[in-house]
Amino acid sequence: MPGNRGVYVVGAGVVGLSTAIRALEAGFEVTIFAELFPGDKKSIKYTSCWAAANHISVASTNELLHQLERETFSALTQLLKDDPLAPVMSQPHQEHVETMRPEIQKQMDHLAQFYSDYRVMQPAELPEGVSYGGEFTTFFIDVPRYLVWLMDRFLILGGKAFRATLPSLSVLLSKDNCPTIAPFPPTSTNPTPSFNPVAILNCTGIGALSLGDVLDTDVFPTRGEVLILRAPWIKHGLTHYYNDGHLSYVLPRQSGDVILGGTFQVGDWHPTSRPETVKSIKERGIEAYPELLPEGKREFRNIQDLEVVEECVGLRPTRKGGIRLEVTTLNAHSRSVPVVHNYGHGGAGYQSSWGSAKMAVELLKSALQ
Ligand SMILES: Cc1cc2nc3c(=O)[nH]c(=O)nc-3n(C[C@H](O)[C@H](O)[C@H](O)COP(=O)(O)OP(=O)(O)OC[C@H]3O[C@@H](n4cnc5c(N)ncnc54)[C@H](O)[C@@H]3O)c2cc1C
Repeated sequence: MPGNRGVYVVGAGVVGLSTAIRALEAGFEVTIFAELFPGDKKSIKYTSCWAAANHISVASTNELLHQLERETFSALTQLLKDDPLAPVMSQPHQEHVETMRPEIQKQMDHLAQFYSDYRVMQPAELPEGVSYGGEFTTFFIDVPRYLVWLMDRFLILGGKAFRATLPSLSVLLSKDNCPTIAPFPPTSTNPTPSFNPVAILNCTGIGALSLGDVLDTDVFPTRGEVLILRAPWIKHGLTHYYNDGHLSYVLPRQSGDVILGGTFQVGDWHPTSRPETVKSIKERGIEAYPELLPEGKREFRNIQDLEVVEECVGLRPTRKGGIRLEVTTLNAHSRSVPVVHNYGHGGAGYQSSWGSAKMAVELLKSALQ
């Protein structure tokens, strides 16, 4: 392909990696710069490693997100056809409602419209205390394996990656101003980057608050505290809506681990688990779904019998106005370069990842025309 096709992607979370893969597939030469990568020790600065994560549409009132989630659902369907061993499962998910309220009804109507096999469950199928149930088939992503799988796919397609903590995007336009960079993985023999990209893709998640020249104060965290349990016998997901307005969710992974959640705490930056929250997640979890306990221990409903692997806290990168998918221009070091922003996915970064990646690459192509 003639001319400079070099683009830089900043960020190696689910959004950055998916975007980088789609950019490679579109014929660009792609280099990722990121502070954190798949396989690193988990960090509060890297939301993707903490996600639950499955595909349950939350786009009843957001047209863009709806489109991105639809596109991602199709991409995940294709991905499993192309690679049946990919760390993604297609399994049933149930929604259990104790008492129906208008906002829950709206979400159920939305799910019924979004997922083609959605069905209302029969009263005989519902546990005690549940007045409404819905079931549909969707995707469950085994997060640690999936991130590594994405990184491998990026490298196999010829992508290059460097570890760097960037104070701004402009430093990528000047070798002399860029902080220390190191090839990723460390064993790779990547040539030094040119610092001459035709465009930059900003996929920094909550890190959009850390880039001096494009800092976006509309970004804020929605803290999520969840538990990873060992419960390989759980084969379907569940969301349980309690009468008091709380909800629990249970999401199985291919590995046999199960996520039990969780919280949605707007503006809360607290980076570690809180004992009272952990206790409440466990108590609500076994109330809604005693099957989380090993067989033989379900009758007593004792939270000590849950096999907890890890207590997790992640900061969903939420943004006033929703996901930012737009192009701006970066003027620095006597150069002018388009920046495609792709961040602010909140609690939907996995389920909108491939749709966002596709749209970001379309924006990239039109910015370069
Ligand atoms: C508890 C919980 C449950 C969730 N469940 C789901 C779910 O079921 N379904 C779903 O779709 N989503 C879910 N999410 C949301 C999802 O995890 C996020 O939307 C998604 O991970 C955001 O990905 P990202 O790539 O934008 O950001 P991140 O994963 O945070 O990645 C950001 C990247 O940018 C890099 N970076 C940032 N700033 C800089 C800088 N200055 N210099 C260099 N590098 C930088 C970081 O190192 C990292 O590589 C959940 C989240 C949580 C916390």
